[in-house]
Amino acid sequence: MGGGEAAMRIEVDNGSGFCFGVVRAIRMAEEAVPIVSLGDIVHNAAEVARLEGLGMETAPEGTDLRDLAGRRALVRAHGEPPATYEEAEEHGVELVDATCPVVAALQKTVAEAWEAMRRVGGQVVIFGRAGHAEVRGLTGHAEGAIVIEGEADLERVDFGKPIYLLAQTTASLGEFRRLGAEMRRRTEEAGGEVEIHDTVCRQVADREERLAEFARRHDVCLFVAGAKSSNGRVLFEAVKGANPRSHKIEGPDDVRGEWLDGADSVGVCGATSTPRWLMEQVAEKICC
Ligand code: SF4
Repeated sequence: MGGGEAAMRIEVDNGSGFCFGVVRAIRMAEEAVPIVSLGDIVHNAAEVARLEGLGMETAPEGTDLRDLAGRRALVRAHGEPPATYEEAEEHGVELVDATCPVVAALQKTVAEAWEAMRRVGGQVVIFGRAGHAEVRGLTGHAEGAIVIEGEADLERVDFGKPIYLLAQTTASLGEFRRLGAEMRRRTEEAGGEVEIHDTVCRQVADREERLAEFARRHDVCLFVAGAKSSNGRVLFEAVKGANPRSHKIEGPDDVRGEWLDGADSVGVCGATSTPRWLMEQVAEKICC
């Protein structure tokens, strides 16, 4: 692909790839093999396969820890609810805790907010994806927290009572701000009060802007991310918004030659869960 008179310029984005929380979790897994990861260590099948080659196994989310009795298991960067730690103890599973320190701090904040809201009859509201591993970990610290995915879910919130609003670390900062403003408006109308705590991780939030700028610099942009990455979904929206000739792919085999027709420059970038080596394989595929 990409032959022709003038060479096509290909750039792999230096700022794309694993955030520090994921790098740390992968290093901990590599150092602790043989180990069973409780769910995908990253939402990227290619990187999971590489680690499995080193001796890591992956147990599906929700695996009964009784089935891992006597083994070593990894808590991913997303974290786990307190019940997982109790069950591991009960069934003799040795946990290697790779919860990202940013997520661990957020779990603590959620637990404190829950306690404070319980005292005043208020509500903890978490903006995030219901059922996402990090969100399940957070609600494990605040069993009655209300998870909202967008404005439509606000009808489940009582604006006449105190509210403490937080976000999943990988949520979109723009959407969080819009929701926060809307909640403030409704709270004022209803005479309640809302405390807004912006807990979006800047390892992700800063990337939206930067990736949009990267995408604008190129005729075509190829965004590499696993199908299950929620961070990948958010970031791809920013990329696509900046450059309509952007395509989301999982790896080099998904690249279609016609996407590159007439392009002088192609940018290859990815999510926080995308390994650098995979983006390089995509670049190789289009240049050769
Ligand atoms: S995105 Fe932020 S909070 Fe999430 S794992 Fe990475 S560094 Fe940690």
